[in-house]
Amino acid sequence: MRAMSFHPPQRTLMGPGPSDVYPRVLEAMSRPTIGHLDPVFVVMMDELKELLRYAFQTRNALTMPVSAPGSAGMEMAFVNLVEPGDKIIVCQNGVFGGRMQENVERAGGVAVMVDDAWGEPVDPLKVEDALKAHPDAKVLAFVHAETSTGAQSDAKTLAELAQRHGCLTIVDAVTSLGGTPLLVDDWGLDAVYSGTQKCLSCVPGLSPVTFSERALERVKARKTKVQSWFLDLTLVLGYWAGGGKRTYHHTAPINTLYALHEALVVLREEGIENAWARHRRHHEALRAGFEALGLSFVVKPEARLPQLNAIRVPEGVDEAAVRTRLLNEYSLEIGAGLGVMAGKIWRVGLMGCAASQRNVLFCLGALDAVLTDMRAPIQSGVAVGAAMAAYSA
Ligand SMILES: *Cc1c(COP(=O)(O)O)cnc(C)c1O
Repeated sequence: MRAMSFHPPQRTLMGPGPSDVYPRVLEAMSRPTIGHLDPVFVVMMDELKELLRYAFQTRNALTMPVSAPGSAGMEMAFVNLVEPGDKIIVCQNGVFGGRMQENVERAGGVAVMVDDAWGEPVDPLKVEDALKAHPDAKVLAFVHAETSTGAQSDAKTLAELAQRHGCLTIVDAVTSLGGTPLLVDDWGLDAVYSGTQKCLSCVPGLSPVTFSERALERVKARKTKVQSWFLDLTLVLGYWAGGGKRTYHHTAPINTLYALHEALVVLREEGIENAWARHRRHHEALRAGFEALGLSFVVKPEARLPQLNAIRVPEGVDEAAVRTRLLNEYSLEIGAGLGVMAGKIWRVGLMGCAASQRNVLFCLGALDAVLTDMRAPIQSGVAVGAAMAAYSA
């Protein structure tokens, strides 16, 4: 047995997450561990919840980090809002809509699927048809930012439709939070979950969630027990309720919560509108570079996520070999395609602090060099210049 400390290499993370973590966040994590019922910790938690409300643009009292990754936030939304026999409309336009269907069915619900092609946003007309055809549906569930394809759906319009038809909404905002406008209260979203390792540039392992009053009423009116003990909101609430009446539910991941607190302070310092604009600005430069190389985007311009750029692999190029060379020669990670897109696309993330001019120029230069060396059918040597022109335009 080798018993030696583990020292990971320094990478530049430009895939679908995790993204590069702010050094300040890593430093915050190494501060002393204290008890999770310590009064000092409780004060930090109250600040953290307030900072999360800012990130989500909500006044929802029930806004908190779940002690597990984004998938647990997803599961919390479904197990609490779906009762056996409930009909749930689930939009699918990539990998994560499929996971929503799994969650509905495992909670005993009936998923009515609204399918769109991978790379397309959710079509509000199809959703409206489904809402009309299923007036007994309880919830409309959709992914705001589909990380598997880079498509952004119109959460505002979809939420309006749901409200008009008396449905609650469950919204996957794992990749949107902090990277593209997400206005929980203005849009009237009911159950929204996210992750820490995407546009917040925090370490993985927590899932920020927020629930509207309407959603909580639905949970309180349940006729059956929530099937998951750990994710049962009625139990978690006892732990998260402020005012010193906090009781033990589970041991909070103390140091990871310091990290999230710090990442949210960084977001607050920058200003969320500025963070959205920064993601957009660097996306535009990256786009100019990719287009100069001759690479095309999977998603049409009006539905593109700035923080997740899905581009088609040029004809005859071994996409995995390119990623391996980027990792080995440049210590740069970009993402592969998932599901039906495997082998056909690359996913280049500009998430959180990775959305920077340094990263854009580095990624374009490295990709240009590797593709040129592999004699790929691209325009060599022009990508970095095109991005720089976009910055000065
Ligand atoms: C990453 C991601 C998830 C899952 O988050 P984990 O932290 O990996 O569990 C869910 N939905 C979307 C859209 C994601 O991008």
